[in-house]
Amino acid sequence: MSMLRVLLRSGVSQVQRACMSTAALPAPKANPEILYTGIFINNEWRKSSSSKTFETINPATGQVIAEVQEGDQNDINLAVKAAGDAFKLGSPWRRMDASERGVLLNRLADLLERDAVYLASLETLDNGKPYTVSYSFDVPASAKVLRYCAGWADKNHGKTIPLDGDYFCFTRHEPVGICGQIIPWNFPLLMASWKLGPALATGNVVVLKPAEQTPLTALYVAQLAKEAGFPPGVVNVVPGDGKTGAAIVRHMDVDKVAFTGSTEVGKLIQEGAGKSNLKRVTLELGGKSPNIIFSDADLDYAVEQSHFGLFFNMGQCCCAGSRTFVEDSIYDKFVERSAERAMKRTVGDPFDFSVEQGPQIDKEQMDKILDLIKSGKKEGAKIVAGGSRHGDKGYFVEPTVFADVKDDMKIAREEIFGPVQQIIRFKTMDELIARANKTDYGLAGAVFTKDIDKAMHIVQGLRAGTVWVNTYNVLGAQAPFGGYKMSGNGRELGEYGLQAYTEVKTVIVKIPQKNS
Ligand code: NAP
Ligand code: MG
Repeated sequence: MSMLRVLLRSGVSQVQRACMSTAALPAPKANPEILYTGIFINNEWRKSSSSKTFETINPATGQVIAEVQEGDQNDINLAVKAAGDAFKLGSPWRRMDASERGVLLNRLADLLERDAVYLASLETLDNGKPYTVSYSFDVPASAKVLRYCAGWADKNHGKTIPLDGDYFCFTRHEPVGICGQIIPWNFPLLMASWKLGPALATGNVVVLKPAEQTPLTALYVAQLAKEAGFPPGVVNVVPGDGKTGAAIVRHMDVDKVAFTGSTEVGKLIQEGAGKSNLKRVTLELGGKSPNIIFSDADLDYAVEQSHFGLFFNMGQCCCAGSRTFVEDSIYDKFVERSAERAMKRTVGDPFDFSVEQGPQIDKEQMDKILDLIKSGKKEGAKIVAGGSRHGDKGYFVEPTVFADVKDDMKIAREEIFGPVQQIIRFKTMDELIARANKTDYGLAGAVFTKDIDKAMHIVQGLRAGTVWVNTYNVLGAQAPFGGYKMSGNGRELGEYGLQAYTEVKTVIVKIPQKNS
């Protein structure tokens, strides 16, 4: 039986299934035309105020794809002004029926689907993730989030409240206003949709800054938003670097910042909000998630899921299962099979349908990963697969597995954000939860066992925003996602995600009494 059929039988997640069934995929555009490299404000393309540009690079080759306009404080000021005008009372956007906002979001989802081959090809070129994944996962998952939010557009309503006294009290759910959205490079299109969907469904206006490594798909989506019919100023996209992001954060007219990225920059954003106008801040940051395998779990399935839980997206996932805790009695077997699986992982040209792993996003990330691998070796962990750069062109790293990892090693504490699995031994349940929680992060975690009591013990004990049981990396538009501790603040997706884009206005109306 093929590996694919074994996995399907054993219940792999939708994401994995999507990534594996390559037979029916349409051919990618190997050289997708780069249509938009400007700054998108008021539904128009502009050059940067400073005339500065930056290069976006194909991480599989190191070659420049395009020069992109670099927004600075002046461009952010223009974008915020356009957004503010679009948000004025009486504007087309503020007068638009909530249901119509849903129609526009659904239309945007339609356009993503119409241009799926182009968008997936552009994502693969700019980010390096396999085309099989961008086509089967990133594009449809982005469309799904937009559709989910579209459905909420006319359902985000308040309550009537039995306030003491002769009053009629109700709440209105109103948009927060001008939302700055700063996104990372690991899921450029998907993160744009996680940000745009809930903000637009709830009637906000947006200034979005994509990561400097991966601006191209967000810029294309800006044009699609115009085509879908969003009025000028509602969606503005300003490419640039960290300084461009900081200009959004310090702007006194920006009402909220939603950020996904490193914990380090997350701290700067919270600080910047405090130093400016106390804008609302939601943060989705890093992780060092524990993935716990008990000896009664189905070994082959747990090995494959743990492999996927770490190596998916070249290990560049905030919720990666980067501390694989394995029970003593199956530890050696688990390590052996995990190493075998990692060595089989196909690395190479991300446009090739047989490739599972493309390059890391840039040289800086590749070097950081290779340094952390060195530190792991130095601290006494044992490499059982990989351990080096793959090839000498582009930014590829071999799928790497460490055994004999101890909790206090750097590779067990720091976010590696690369294809490097740490397998750690545990003996008893008593020690386990404390060790799993001994991290500043708290984004996700997982447990593999057939024993419901053990599973629920772990579910209750882990201090993390998502806990998976007998699965990994299952995310969906309906389920909230976010972190405890230094993994973030607030939740994205689901109904909770909409709350982050909603102000609650309490209205209290005096009820005249006949005898008064
Ligand atoms: P990062 O610096 O946190 O970048 C995320 C976004 O924030 C980018 O759009 C970035 O712009 C912007 N930014 C940077 N400095 C800023 C500032 N002072 N004010 C406002 N915005 C700012 O992440 P990175 O340097 O690309 O990656 C470093 C590490 O972050 C990774 O190794 C990984 O551990 C973590 N990371 C986590 C996630 C996640 O999903 N949670 C995603 C990516 C990275 P530019 O990139 O354009 O400069
Ligand atoms: Mg790039």
